[in-house]
Amino acid sequence: MFTHRQKVDRIAQQLKDRKSNKPVSLKKKAVAHQVPKPGDKRYSDEKIDISDLDKIILIDREKKICIAEPGVTFVDLAKATLRYNLVPTVVPELKTITIGGAVAGCSIESMSYKYGGFHDSCLEYEVITAQGEVLICTPDNEHKLVFQMVHGTFGTLGIISRLKFKLIPAKPFVKVVYEKYFNLEDYQAAIWKHYQDKDVDFMDSIIHSPRLYVLSLANFVEEAPYTHRYDWMRIYYLSTKTRKRDYLKTADYFFRYDKGVTNVNPKSFLGRLFFGKFVNSSLVLRAAEKFHKIIPSSQIPVTLDIFIPFSKASDFMDWYMQEVNFFPLWCVPYHPVRKYEWLSNDFWRKTKDQLFLDLAIYGLKKSGGKNYYKILEDKLLEIRALKTLISTNYYTEPDFWKIWNKKNYDLVKRKTDPQNIFRDLYTKTCKTSQGLGS
Ligand SMILES: Cc1cc2nc3c(=O)[nH]c(=O)nc-3n(C[C@H](O)[C@H](O)[C@H](O)COP(=O)(O)OP(=O)(O)OC[C@H]3O[C@@H](n4cnc5c(N)ncnc54)[C@H](O)[C@@H]3O)c2cc1C
Repeated sequence: MFTHRQKVDRIAQQLKDRKSNKPVSLKKKAVAHQVPKPGDKRYSDEKIDISDLDKIILIDREKKICIAEPGVTFVDLAKATLRYNLVPTVVPELKTITIGGAVAGCSIESMSYKYGGFHDSCLEYEVITAQGEVLICTPDNEHKLVFQMVHGTFGTLGIISRLKFKLIPAKPFVKVVYEKYFNLEDYQAAIWKHYQDKDVDFMDSIIHSPRLYVLSLANFVEEAPYTHRYDWMRIYYLSTKTRKRDYLKTADYFFRYDKGVTNVNPKSFLGRLFFGKFVNSSLVLRAAEKFHKIIPSSQIPVTLDIFIPFSKASDFMDWYMQEVNFFPLWCVPYHPVRKYEWLSNDFWRKTKDQLFLDLAIYGLKKSGGKNYYKILEDKLLEIRALKTLISTNYYTEPDFWKIWNKKNYDLVKRKTDPQNIFRDLYTKTCKTSQGLGS
């Protein structure tokens, strides 16, 4: 057993000792939640092994904070904090997403309508730079821009080696009530009302079709008359269509979508009966990672999250039904709690909305030669919306930096990775992932 300090020193030393300026990637213990990309050059990079950074260091019940290493998975974190009736403000729904990955890749969930992303609950990061320097970054110390910029920059500015973040009180069960709406206008009005009133602990929804919008409103409760789990034969997103209410143990609520949100595996009744207990998101991603070279990219379904400014939702949906028309969609209202430094000034000038709708398009089959990623990117640029960068990205470099903040990015990059061994954000997410560039 090594102490945290020893583990950080080992990683820092590996970086200091490196002679080459060739790009490196991280080796974690938990599987990466990235859409498989057959040609991704990162598979053959030299690795910086951070797999032993997976311990919870402290849960302070009084101050309601947690200090942990980046490889802690949300399933382990929720289990540990629930012992004290506490939880993180955002628990992404796949069990093995890690807290470091959640910051670097911007994870969200049904408390995001109040609290933003997981990164918005963070108070301090320890960051290892490419030169092996160890920085303590907070929102108001000398490294405050590093603190803000490691969010959503996919590990291209340094390695997050320790995180300190807030927890909130929780109860053992969650009661969910399903409100059904039959047009977008009524559905948006209901979301807006709950957003303003902040009257529920959790809000997310499934858009089953343009004629059925189910808003899932949930609260922590002390007791439950019954509970359901969605880890074998039952499929959570389908249950929202037929049920009026439901009760789940709190941890089961957090991971209700772990079999895939709207792209559930196994797909058939018999498949679920025989294998459903064992097949989960982690196993599917691990298999995809292992066989990435032989999976034809045409067979990998479209998987992406797009963030639509609330005021543009109606225009966007009209366009979406004409051009894409894929349902169901998972929809998570998201409140950016500050004008994030990693988004461009131009983005914030043109986008005044306090609320976004994260539409998760999971499982759309590629067909008819249409490049859905590209046509969606073009539309998002037009309405000043954005997407997460976990899948294939086709932005040109000038278009990319219309959304992401090049000035702030370059300022931090010069300080934390001047030789560019972590690659720059555009290259990593838009080129390397397609087998292009360095
Ligand atoms: C099928 C699928 C469904 C998803 N569903 C959701 C969802 O519902 N809600 C949601 O919020 N997100 C979702 N995501 C996105 C997910 O939250 C992000 O991709 C997140 O970054 C994954 O975290 P991870 O721990 O798996 O990290 P990885 O995928 O391993 O890494 C993500 C990025 O972060 C970098 N990184 C990882 N650890 C560190 C570190 N310690 N320091 C610096 N950089 C680091 C990696 O280099 C990589 O670029 C989904 C992704 C997929 C593929």
